[in-house]
Amino acid sequence: MPPKESLIDHWRATGRITDKRLLDAFRAVLREKFVLQEYKERAYDDVALPIIEGQTISQPTTVMIMLQALELKKTDVVLEIGAGSGYNAALLSKLAKKVYTIEFLKPLADFAKKNLASCGIKNVVVIHGDGGTGYPKAAPFDKIIITAACPSVPPQLFEQLKEGGIHVAPLGQTGVQEMFTFKKIKGTISRELLGLFQFVPLRGEYG
Ligand code: SAH
Repeated sequence: MPPKESLIDHWRATGRITDKRLLDAFRAVLREKFVLQEYKERAYDDVALPIIEGQTISQPTTVMIMLQALELKKTDVVLEIGAGSGYNAALLSKLAKKVYTIEFLKPLADFAKKNLASCGIKNVVVIHGDGGTGYPKAAPFDKIIITAACPSVPPQLFEQLKEGGIHVAPLGQTGVQEMFTFKKIKGTISRELLGLFQFVPLRGEYG
């Protein structure tokens, strides 16, 4: 079985990821287009891989767990903080209407743009900047996802989340972080622990 299908099989068998839309998005997006040439053979190893500037493309299982927690709808407008390779944004593009993804490091913003363009993806906007302050120009968002470890959720992000919106973020310092799903209901934020994960740290004002 090709490595991509064995990953899908594993998620199904363990009951970790069963949503057909999510699995179809995983099938549709070629992860090999988002990794460096020297890692293409390992594109479907279930691990984070180095990209440029000391950053990483997240582990497929981690990405899928985060996407599942977002309960994405085809009508959603999504904000991502930490474009990195653009891979997560590419998956989001298949599951939502429009995606804004912010990247702090200019070479990575360019890398993400190039990778997304090579897949012909048109509903993702890559912005070079500090995502800690969100993206007020396109707010409010149905869903917000942070793919870098942050000490706490920057307050602007909750403000930019719609009523009924969902936000997923790994909280903690370097090492291991606790990933939370936040829901905004009647203006109040509730949170649920998704598990322990490892991310590169958030930079900028809220890092
Ligand atoms: N989602 C990415 C992986 C994220 S790695 C993918 O699918 O490949 C985390 C990324 O967050 C890194 O590229 C890092 O440069 C970026 N980052 C860190 N702090 C940031 C900030 N304040 N605003 C935007 N991006 C940030």
